Amino acid sequence: MSVARVAYVSAHGCPLASPGVGAAGGMSVVLRNAACALERAGVRVDVFTGLHGACPAPSAAAGCGQTGSPSLRIMHMDAGDAGGFTRRLLAYADADGEGYDLVHSHYWLSAEPGIRLARRLGAPHVFTGHTIAEVKERAGGAPESAVRKQAEAAAIHESDAVVTATDEEAAAVSALFEFPADRVHAVPMGVDASLFRPLPRVQARNALGIGADERVVLFVGRTEPFKGPGVLVQALSLLRDPGGVRLLIVGGGQDGSDVQWLRDAAWAGGVSAQIDARGAAPHDELPRYYAAADVCAVPSLHETFGLVALEAMACGTPVAASRAGGLRQIVREDETGVLCEPGAPGALAVALDALLDDPARARRLGEAGVPWARTFTWEAAAARLSAAYDRIAASFAK
Ligand code: UDP
Repeated sequence: MSVARVAYVSAHGCPLASPGVGAAGGMSVVLRNAACALERAGVRVDVFTGLHGACPAPSAAAGCGQTGSPSLRIMHMDAGDAGGFTRRLLAYADADGEGYDLVHSHYWLSAEPGIRLARRLGAPHVFTGHTIAEVKERAGGAPESAVRKQAEAAAIHESDAVVTATDEEAAAVSALFEFPADRVHAVPMGVDASLFRPLPRVQARNALGIGADERVVLFVGRTEPFKGPGVLVQALSLLRDPGGVRLLIVGGGQDGSDVQWLRDAAWAGGVSAQIDARGAAPHDELPRYYAAADVCAVPSLHETFGLVALEAMACGTPVAASRAGGLRQIVREDETGVLCEPGAPGALAVALDALLDDPARARRLGEAGVPWARTFTWEAAAARLSAAYDRIAASFAK
């Protein structure tokens, strides 16, 4: 059975949100790229998301614009009161006679509305957690709410299949939730190599006001503790020559309040002059930051996948990353980057020094990252997703 029409339910994350600020992160990048690649492969995707400030479109209208693909539609549902999102989603499905062959829900908040939509349509339901609370906690993250954990367990058990980003996460889902392994599909994400590509370093630095001779470590992402920026600031003070390094931080709101805790930590470690926090940058301006850096640090306690590491490698920048989650799969140790123990500032400092003190090796690793990162295409992701959808729909029909 060939799945031709898919409903993406993403109550919490809009494909058009700006990543890097507040709670918005890789999920909006993934939704946009995966949905568009599916469209290009001939699978129609409609995205149902919550109404949010950046996209003030009316509920159930045609969203706030195209995303580079001719027919990707983004419907913003005004959630209003509790249960409002689900109600509007079901009302939309009832009014729209065409229906969907499959419903794919993203993040735990979307599972309940997604499952109800699938049941209403008599279609299979697929769940992607993006991060699973149980996995995050085991990696040392702050405790997550019991409500979320129960919702994730229910989402998995009531779904026909689960899609994860890596084989490791697939194994974790099937072991932790006692869910049949043959109903978990690992689909690696991709990187847009037409956007993330090498640029001349000096040019990138000029544009960002960074000197050609400086040593630059880059951090990109939400500045929450789980992503490890605090560990990175601690590592900075343990470098052989902290004074000669600029830590460029891209992420967080523009008013600086998201990074105040990092500035405080840097001050305590005697490296406050090294911090250059710029707030979140538009996604399409990131190649310039990656190109300007000697090293991109990805010090997360855990990563479901590790988009930032992949983007950095695609731009020819070596990474110093935690040996955790998807990072172990997408960073080739000592070939495209250096891996170290998560949550350990000393180990991260050693990894950073290994690249900062040996520019020739850093260049070699950076260059090797480009062809490697390019093997992760959104086209391949869409082909695997579409094949998985067909298999899921075929066993659902039996
Ligand atoms: N990002 C961005 N601008 C920023 C910071 C981050 O566009 O200022 C993007 C970044 O390019 C990446 C995504 O946000 O694609 C973060 O994804 P990741 O999977 O690392 O993080 P998470 O989903 O945990 O936020």
